Amino acid sequence: MTIIARVDPFRPDEEVVRKAAEIIKRGGLVAFPTETVYGLGADVFNRRAVLRVFEVKGRPPDNPLIIHVNSLEMLDEVASSIPEVAYKLISKFWPGPLTLILPKSEKVPYEATGGLDTVAVRMPAHPVALKLIGESQTPIAAPSANISGYPSPTKGEHVIRDLYSKIDMIIDAGDTLYGVESTIINILTDPPTLLRPGAYPVEEIEKAIGKNIVIPEFARGLKEAGQALAPGMRYRHYSPATPLVLIELSDYSRQSLSELAWNVIRLVDQYKDRKVCILATEETKEYYTGLNAVIVPLGSRKSFYEIAHNLFDALRKLDQLGCGIAIAEGFEERGLGLTIMNRLRKACSRRIVI
Ligand code: AMP
Ligand code: MG
Repeated sequence: MTIIARVDPFRPDEEVVRKAAEIIKRGGLVAFPTETVYGLGADVFNRRAVLRVFEVKGRPPDNPLIIHVNSLEMLDEVASSIPEVAYKLISKFWPGPLTLILPKSEKVPYEATGGLDTVAVRMPAHPVALKLIGESQTPIAAPSANISGYPSPTKGEHVIRDLYSKIDMIIDAGDTLYGVESTIINILTDPPTLLRPGAYPVEEIEKAIGKNIVIPEFARGLKEAGQALAPGMRYRHYSPATPLVLIELSDYSRQSLSELAWNVIRLVDQYKDRKVCILATEETKEYYTGLNAVIVPLGSRKSFYEIAHNLFDALRKLDQLGCGIAIAEGFEERGLGLTIMNRLRKACSRRIVI
């Protein structure tokens, strides 16, 4: 049986958090809200609980989990050494959506790290997540609380749809703030490397450390990562069941949005035999009026935060609408645009660059 508890994100019922912590302590699984997406939590030091996380998600065993802590003492329990640059980033960005790669402590089981000698750690900025870690008195390993390969959950109902009856408890605190996962930085390389763009723009992290961060092709969603760099990046990710075609501009400063929209329209015409959905923006939706297509709004291009926040819910909607094919527009890769493009490129089944 899965307990479902709805709570106020800012003032969660203490009783609910206590109950959830009891479940974690005895090796159970609890889905809980964070400021990025919902996580599926287990006591990181409990091998069997960690293995169950992989099992219920259908997650490949070499795709490591992010460990969530609520204090620097807890960080010391999971990392064997912490370089100076880590403290610089932690003091500026924690609690928040920044995950750091650090050498693993002996206590952390290899089941949680996909066999690696490093851990990915962050301190979430969500009252429910922080309270749950505190009450559980243990770091919590938590990947996103969705079926592996499917878009990450940004609402309690997404978690219920994917994991109801498979886990012990779901804490539903409504919409998550960012709606995309944390930014993952490997600070063990010099200069540091971006492993996954996320809710914090890379540019802000670069400003804080006064150095450029290496952005490999796979972090832009263009290539698969090798085993050693970021194991999880090799797998299908964020994909709705509906086939998704992504149309990108090669140069957003020179090409116009009307060129992008015109190519979307031409593609709609090619799929006359199917129900077509378009993930459109405020700036482009006018172009699509009168077309035989369902418009799924993503928000305005003036706020990449808004687009990122709505993205996973919109991808899930495509399946609910029974679309035969969906078309997504590209975004410029600056700020959160890099994060949005990473997710769209991984989610799509076909990519067209014009
Ligand atoms: P998820 O929690 O589903 O967003 O996935 C967490 C991601 O963190 C994985 O897909 C990995 O790419 C990354 N990750 C976790 N641990 C490590 C690590 N030790 N080294 C590199 N990447 C990691
Ligand atoms: Mg995930």
